[in-house]
Amino acid sequence: MIFRQFFDPVSSTYTYLLASGRGREALIIDPVKEQTAQYLDAIDALGLKLVRAIDTHTHADHITALGELRDATGCVTLMGEYTKAQCVSARVRDGEILDVDGIRLQAIYTPGHTDESFSFVLGPDAPRAVFTGDVLLIRGTGRTDFQAGDPHKSWDSIVNKLFRLPDDTVVYPGHDYKGWTSSSIIEEKQRNPRLAGKTESQYVEIMRNLKLPNPKLMDIAVPANLACGQA
Ligand code: FE
Repeated sequence: MIFRQFFDPVSSTYTYLLASGRGREALIIDPVKEQTAQYLDAIDALGLKLVRAIDTHTHADHITALGELRDATGCVTLMGEYTKAQCVSARVRDGEILDVDGIRLQAIYTPGHTDESFSFVLGPDAPRAVFTGDVLLIRGTGRTDFQAGDPHKSWDSIVNKLFRLPDDTVVYPGHDYKGWTSSSIIEEKQRNPRLAGKTESQYVEIMRNLKLPNPKLMDIAVPANLACGQA
């Protein structure tokens, strides 16, 4: 399997490129508009054909490359079924399995950070990794104070859906601000300070008291991303 993790230093966003083999069909998760040339270079160097570009949710801190990649490669742009982005060419339902040339990803509805966030489990029959978007981060969780976020739903998505994956499932988040590149379900169960040993009401209390400033790009990024980054 081909697997590449890209980093956008401005928004600390991770983007993932997956393909079953060289010269084969590929998919990309959470691409950033400013890094489009880098993705296209990698796709070209590996002789891949991009067939799907997926956003886990409508991002507020960077502009998506979905539209640019669709223009450049003819790929299908895809989000979860509750997205308000009219521009996407396909939507996935909760539980649906995407198969790109043998790379199997199961979409799971994991609201909380936004009301339309999905996570994607790699190899759902024997899970190897999960792309969590911003609902579960490394030693953190995505904020729940805008875009119809809800700390109760975040708890439910993490504890009752993601934490039911096998302990050794690798966690690939949508962001990291400290240089961590991946984690695992067991690590986050045991070491995530917002979750480990906490009750739902304690978690909700933590999330309601984060008092974070709005992302600098929010007023630009959200409307742009509803148009696949091409508003
Ligand atoms: Fe986000």
